[in-house]
Amino acid sequence: MPELPEVETVRRRLASCLPGLVLDQVTVNDPSVSAQGEAELRAALRGRRVVALRRRGKYLIVEFDGVLLIVHLRMTGRLVFAPEPGTRAPRFAARFAPGTELYFYDTRRFGRVWAVAAAAEDEFFVALGPEPFGPRFTTTYLRDALQGRSAPLKSFLLDQRRLAGVGNIYADEALFRARLNPLRRAGTLAPVEAARLRDALLETLQAGIDHNGSSIDTFVGPEGDRGAFQEILNVYGRAGEPCRVCGGTVRRVELGGRGTHFCPRCQPLPRGDRLATGGRDALARERAARRRTARQRAARERTSRERTGGRGDKP
Ligand SMILES: [Zn+2]
Repeated sequence: MPELPEVETVRRRLASCLPGLVLDQVTVNDPSVSAQGEAELRAALRGRRVVALRRRGKYLIVEFDGVLLIVHLRMTGRLVFAPEPGTRAPRFAARFAPGTELYFYDTRRFGRVWAVAAAAEDEFFVALGPEPFGPRFTTTYLRDALQGRSAPLKSFLLDQRRLAGVGNIYADEALFRARLNPLRRAGTLAPVEAARLRDALLETLQAGIDHNGSSIDTFVGPEGDRGAFQEILNVYGRAGEPCRVCGGTVRRVELGGRGTHFCPRCQPLPRGDRLATGGRDALARERAARRRTARQRAARERTSRERTGGRGDKP
């Protein structure tokens, strides 16, 4: 799923060619891509010149004179320059003079676009937390935001009202880098740990940007090019594999319906009530699943022994 580094990758590429171009046609093939409809989007955007490409959290902003085209890629959205052969029609397409086209493909169809008056931007993003690389996201801000939170750290990081742009991959990777357990109660972090978490978030997001994002599922840049961050992941998607730092086994638990990956040795759990409630449940589920797998494996081994034994009896 595209997070801040993936959207930033798209933004940078588009920023190198869209500014100065005039939007001359908008096509909507899938009305669910926008609450506004084709006619309204056309009326808002046609004939306008691109001023800049910006990003807010996981939102991409194409800034025109007086109007913003805001795009959220959600799960599987891709903004590309060339039509993708063999797939269904793009949900949304924009043609810029001279001859540059942008197609919005989106298998799962959760992505959205909006045309918003520039003056209404603050209102549009009113519920969104600070930008990780912006001036508001200081250690003091993070410490205050964590204060009193009983949610697991991982859930805290995914909450876009606290911090914009972080999703599942970069939350897991940042927590590993900060050596903090994702199931820990957010409000229990010491000031020095909050500072470590902030640094780890910035380093992890920057590494994602430097690698043009992660292409784990469907994410590609505007030219159909894949990112490379998935090649250096420490924990995300590596359940059961050895930790790159300590050699221990990377674990995966379900937290709020999302896979959460961590190294129990590098990110030790604090004792007693410092573990978040949701975190305790997630661990219990994971332990039960492991016991089930072990029982099934034992049963399979018994059956295969009996079979082997059976064959052995034959002449
Ligand atoms: Zn480890």
